[in-house]
Amino acid sequence: MEPRDFIRDRIRRDVESGRNDRRVHTRFPPEPNGHLHIGHAQAIGLNFGLAREFGGTVNLRFDDTNPEAEDVAYVDSIQETIRWLGFAWDGLAYASDYFAQLYAWAEYLIGAGLAYVDQLTPEQMREYRGTPTEPGRNSPWRDRPTAESLDLLQRMRDGEFPNGAYVLRAKIDMAHPNLNLRDPALYRIRRVAHQRTGDRWNIYPTYDFAHGQSDAIEGITHSICTLEFENHRPLYDWLIEHLPVPHRPQQIEFARLNLTHTVMSKRVLRRLIEERHVDGWDDPRLPTLSGLRRRGYTPEAIREFCARVGVSKTNATTELALLEFSLREDLNARAPRFMAVLDPVLVRVANWPDGAVDSFEAEYHPGDRSRGSRQVAFSGSFYVEREDYLDDAPRKWFRLAPGREVRLKYAYYVTVVETLRDQAGALREIVVEYDPDSRGGESPDGRKVKGTLHWVDASRARPAEFRLYDTLFRDRSPDTANAELSELLNPDSLVIKHGVVEPAATTIEAGTSVQFLRSGYYCRDTDPERLVFNRAVTLKDNWQRIVRNQRQNE
Ligand code: ATP
Ligand code: MG
Repeated sequence: MEPRDFIRDRIRRDVESGRNDRRVHTRFPPEPNGHLHIGHAQAIGLNFGLAREFGGTVNLRFDDTNPEAEDVAYVDSIQETIRWLGFAWDGLAYASDYFAQLYAWAEYLIGAGLAYVDQLTPEQMREYRGTPTEPGRNSPWRDRPTAESLDLLQRMRDGEFPNGAYVLRAKIDMAHPNLNLRDPALYRIRRVAHQRTGDRWNIYPTYDFAHGQSDAIEGITHSICTLEFENHRPLYDWLIEHLPVPHRPQQIEFARLNLTHTVMSKRVLRRLIEERHVDGWDDPRLPTLSGLRRRGYTPEAIREFCARVGVSKTNATTELALLEFSLREDLNARAPRFMAVLDPVLVRVANWPDGAVDSFEAEYHPGDRSRGSRQVAFSGSFYVEREDYLDDAPRKWFRLAPGREVRLKYAYYVTVVETLRDQAGALREIVVEYDPDSRGGESPDGRKVKGTLHWVDASRARPAEFRLYDTLFRDRSPDTANAELSELLNPDSLVIKHGVVEPAATTIEAGTSVQFLRSGYYCRDTDPERLVFNRAVTLKDNWQRIVRNQRQNE
């Protein structure tokens, strides 16, 4: 089913009315100052999705107008991430491609009496600007002769003045109720090299001056951005109207994606990395797409999540549980099953024939042999999870305990007969007896066992590291503006376990996700030295519980 929302309705109307010769052309405009995050995935899904649905085109345009924070490394990672998400752009562009045209348009505005070079200090500029309730005042330089503004702008460009000495401003209305129209800045002096244009420019256009004009140059029909730009739209339209641009794009705003228990601001993400709270942009605890990928998220799960969230006009915060639910659903269908024990304790079968080795066929996808299987060997001693044994178990405990019988997945029924402890009293080994007639985990005589445990054969176990991730922040909505990051972080966001996996698990390729039975979905990490598995998501679903609770409260 095609999605319906106010943006699609709007575009449909524009197409039906013949606007822009019925063309639909969108763009995704990231600033190359960090890695993309899950919020960007929503904007990507929207812009690339619209182009596909309407038979249109989509540009990837790097909004590279702030040379200080930007880097080619980010340009590369952004392209790689968009491809990984499963999208392809029609046109690739950089706002810096248009610096010469933007400069010419700046001179055009001065010539038309619609812009001037100001020289108030930043403090004065703030003071003259007024407030939302009080009008601003005209700068004494507002009416300087055209020729003087033109001359100053050229000298700004040529590097004659220090940063901040002059600013090119649009001449609109210092009393306008919308502060964005009180003579907004168009060009600032910034004497820094740019990753693409080098030392060519000593001035750089502001977002407002660069963005809409880049849209117009590229023939973008619908320029979709997040809600905080809604009150920039009058300026967007003013510039398009007063400049001799070749096209008239329409800005449309939608609510940005927010997620519980995390932050999306690149500034805060950068701080988390610089202050070494996390391991880099691709730390699996971050909401960056490179982090989610390393965590085990698939492009399909992310696209499905974005589709479920949809687009809206009001800001809201989406439950992290919905993102996890989308992954669990995707991996449930896709991930092969293996056995791993994260916190192993040894179990020995007392009545196992000396030296015997049995082996069982285990399907990678339960109930579907056509998707492959492997042999799982059983040699009479194996590991189980320490938490699967209790000395003093309640009646409804269906795992190991003295005298209780359980099924070992694929293998046999076993019953605990004895435990061995070390001097400190810690459990060292569990001794069980097996029922030779229960081969394959089949009941020999109709007697039922409720519990089925996963296990790893001791003689073939391979050591592995498991990284168990939890939310990076403790709170649902971390208040990063008013607290140290270290106070907000969850101290248990990463717990490392050293356990074992069955031998077949060593063939899992880096970046592939599997289910370890009864434990969760795990993705083989890219660590080349060791067998490391990142836990993508547990098997326990919180999302449907949240939905049920919401329904009950309605
Ligand atoms: P930040 O302020 O954290 O640096 P940004 O919005 O400036 O983020 P950009 O690289 O400029 O980051 O964003 C590129 C595009 O992605 C923009 O069109 C922006 O609207 C969109 N976008 C960014 N964050 C979100 C989000 N959380 N939800 C939806 N779209 C987003
Ligand atoms: Mg931005």
